[in-house]
Amino acid sequence: MQKLVVSRLAALDQPSARESGMVLAMPRVVLDPARDFDDNVSMWAATAAPAPEFPTLQGDVTADVVIIGAGFTGMSTAYHLARRFPDKHIVVLEAKRVGNGASGRSGGMALNWINGVQATTPERAKRVYGATRAGLDWIAKVIDEHRLNVRFHRIGCFDAYTDNKRAEEAHASAERLASWGIPVEYLSGAQLQKVTNAQGVVGGVLDPGTGQLHGLDLLRGLAPVIAGYGVRIHEQSPVIAIEEGQTHVVRTPHGSVRSPAMVLATNGYTGKLGYFSTGIFPLHSHVIATEPLPKERWQELGWGDNAGFCDDMDRIAYTSMSADGRLLIGGGGNGAYSYAYGGCTAFPTDAALQYEFVHGVLKKYFPKAKDVRIAQRWTGTLGITMTRVCSIGVTGEYKNIYHGLGYSGHGVVLANLAGQVICDLYSDNHEPWRDLPFYQRKLDGIPPEPLRWVGYQVYTKLTGRSPRKKLADD
Ligand SMILES: Cc1cc2nc3c(=O)[nH]c(=O)nc-3n(C[C@H](O)[C@H](O)[C@H](O)COP(=O)(O)OP(=O)(O)OC[C@H]3O[C@@H](n4cnc5c(N)ncnc54)[C@H](O)[C@@H]3O)c2cc1C
Repeated sequence: MQKLVVSRLAALDQPSARESGMVLAMPRVVLDPARDFDDNVSMWAATAAPAPEFPTLQGDVTADVVIIGAGFTGMSTAYHLARRFPDKHIVVLEAKRVGNGASGRSGGMALNWINGVQATTPERAKRVYGATRAGLDWIAKVIDEHRLNVRFHRIGCFDAYTDNKRAEEAHASAERLASWGIPVEYLSGAQLQKVTNAQGVVGGVLDPGTGQLHGLDLLRGLAPVIAGYGVRIHEQSPVIAIEEGQTHVVRTPHGSVRSPAMVLATNGYTGKLGYFSTGIFPLHSHVIATEPLPKERWQELGWGDNAGFCDDMDRIAYTSMSADGRLLIGGGGNGAYSYAYGGCTAFPTDAALQYEFVHGVLKKYFPKAKDVRIAQRWTGTLGITMTRVCSIGVTGEYKNIYHGLGYSGHGVVLANLAGQVICDLYSDNHEPWRDLPFYQRKLDGIPPEPLRWVGYQVYTKLTGRSPRKKLADD
């Protein structure tokens, strides 16, 4: 029997309703593409090579796998599936353009580790670090193998500490990790100054294999490669309703795909499709980027030899430097993040105040850069979970709904790794991933509206932090 999952119908957000086999006569489509998806106006969009265009889905087609979303998760999944199963028909449906979501709007930092995971034993730390390091190496390999023109400079990102006590703890932790063979390095004094002269930073932990990735370079470069493998990519094809079953029917405004397997590669947008809405919520992060300046000028203004850094605050500030000298910065306080009522995925109003706030964070860390012109301002949608740990797995009555999501601001590497994981799960090969914290991770704990919106506003205002559930060591 086919079960009908209707976008954003509250009743169907509940797993119990979905799993009860409830069938509705008519899909009531409340996902509104004009309202729920906005254009990518980021620095990455302004500096990427022109995008190849892919046709809108017209008419009814069949596939072996339908992938919803053409960000890092969707495109890495398509890449791996197409290479492993050259005879399978794979269709990618993207609401706007390839890389229109967070993957094309991020802070650019390609990092190790899994957000939310402590990894306090040598075995666990090596496993988690090793998995994400392999994800970073995969990005480099794919760029190399297909000779893609992608700006990916792996000169190392670091965690910046602005408080002496936290810096001391970070120092001890970095030494412990180094003694386990993980190549991180604690920096202070002259060593730190070479890496950064950001005001108020008293220590840092450098992870040398990390770097800054131009996400749109990667996705726009990879798209023709994937299409060359026979994958049908459809842009401007928002999925507006899904009839879930042994064979899913995935509907867009002008067509449908019937497929026995479906991949939810929609991260922060996933709740709109009626999935994981109590496990993941879309949080808007507001970002600005400066005009390009020569490296020597940035050295004078306080930037050093690094690809980017995150600070040690709960409402984290993140900043990275593009290959052509544009400083990007986001976060840094309540004013830099927004949750819009009802889980809006496109920020519903003008974010001028938020951009001003983020500019204040830039000036706090780099006061000498206060007059550098801001060239781009944009907002992107993060997929946040309560523990910050993401989930990659397979669900559904017929075990044919795959997902990779909830990267909680750490998805540049993890979402690229997700394709390999999902491809293995599709091949029924779970073993390589079973021991990792994201494997089949259950996500829940986010209350429905209006409690969600009220809770977020009250909690963030009172504490200056974002709501989270701390994990026991994982
Ligand atoms: C401002 C910002 C800064 C960030 N900085 C960093 C960072 O520095 N380092 C880091 O590791 N991570 C960072 N992240 C997180 C990282 O970018 C994401 O975790 C990652 O890109 C998620 O990739 P994805 O493919 O799963 O999702 P997305 O890139 O969001 O892709 C989902 C795609 O699905 C499409 N879609 C959604 N719904 C539908 C539908 N109904 N039908 C068809 N298509 C649909 C969307 O249009 C989108 O293209 C940042 C995120 C943001 C927003």
